[in-house]
Amino acid sequence: LSNFVETDVVIIGAGPCGLFAVFELGLLDLKCHLIDILDRPGGQCAELYPEKPIYDIPGLPEVSGQGLVDNLLKQIEPFAPEFHFGEMVTEIERTEDGAFRVRTDTGTALLAKVVVIAAGGGSFQPKRPPIAGIENYEQKSVFYSVRRMEDFRDHHLVVVGGGDSALDWTLNLQPLAKSVTLIHRRPEFRAAPDSVNKMFSLQERGEILFEQGQVSALKGENGHLESITVKGPNGEVDIACTRLLPFFGLTMKLGPVAEWGLNLEENLVTVDTEKFQTSEPGIFAIGDINYYPGKLKLILSGFHEAALMAQAAKRIVNPDARVVFQYTTSSSSLQKKLGVI
Ligand code: FAD
Repeated sequence: LSNFVETDVVIIGAGPCGLFAVFELGLLDLKCHLIDILDRPGGQCAELYPEKPIYDIPGLPEVSGQGLVDNLLKQIEPFAPEFHFGEMVTEIERTEDGAFRVRTDTGTALLAKVVVIAAGGGSFQPKRPPIAGIENYEQKSVFYSVRRMEDFRDHHLVVVGGGDSALDWTLNLQPLAKSVTLIHRRPEFRAAPDSVNKMFSLQERGEILFEQGQVSALKGENGHLESITVKGPNGEVDIACTRLLPFFGLTMKLGPVAEWGLNLEENLVTVDTEKFQTSEPGIFAIGDINYYPGKLKLILSGFHEAALMAQAAKRIVNPDARVVFQYTTSSSSLQKKLGVI
């Protein structure tokens, strides 16, 4: 095993509901690890609408998708959750003593007494670009996310796309790679202006290459890329390429959640409305992934679900502890946990 972790609660999904669950569990002294396929927290809010305003978060008349995520991260900071990004949970298995072993597709194994599924619309999966034969190179020279930056050291890297992922990885991998070329079909980008400016200044200094166009062919053998062809406004060019990172957006699929033996209703995990527990005691489901009569797929519903789930999770992790209902405004013990006194 490459990585083994023991904790109170494993949360699958770092969307808004998974993040807020850390807060509610933290107030009850439960320590959390969160796992997400994406390379950053925030789920749909960060991935699908970071700049759109949300108007129905209680107490925040207007907040952007990313703004909400930033606030949630600040709110849970006192509880120091640990994040595992770029990993997909593939297996949940009950151990002999009633705990759960959770495994990811990168070999991480986590042992926890409680599992919270906050998997939203399911797993975000990268869209495959329409380039003939690309599947022969996947996981050898073509990657849809960066799991280890070292895998790109001293390579001729080509990044394709015009969004934040494409720009961020162009900038982050530039110091490591032998050469970096960014390819986008237009000279305009949908990424943070600061990253775009940084990219253009690296281009001016000759430290990266920007090529307008689309990848039309891949050349190499046995999955090992050697070069790619780019078709642009001025015709075709061949570019040395031993690592290709295409960022063509993401689609959502239910993914492995369907294989964990839980009761489902139209691809959603059924839960009770007292604890938001699934058909498997100790496994809870909150946020967009769950179903119960009257469910509304709103962020505020997921926040409420997290609060009730946490009470039930506490009774599983520390069955002998007496849980006293307290307000954050008046409880000095809660305020100590939050680090405000
Ligand atoms: P998500 O945000 O979907 O996050 C789930 C996370 O789990 C994802 O990051 C995913 O990668 C991860 N995941 C899934 N499976 C696995 C796995 N097997 N292993 C590892 N990770 C996994 N709601 C409102 O309340 N108000 C609004 O105004 C509003 N506007 C919206 C506008 C748009 C355009 C969209 C698309 C949605 C909007 N929503 C709004 C809905 C809101 O975004 C969702 O209700 C919310 O994101 C659900 O949060 P979540 O934490 O349950 O799941």
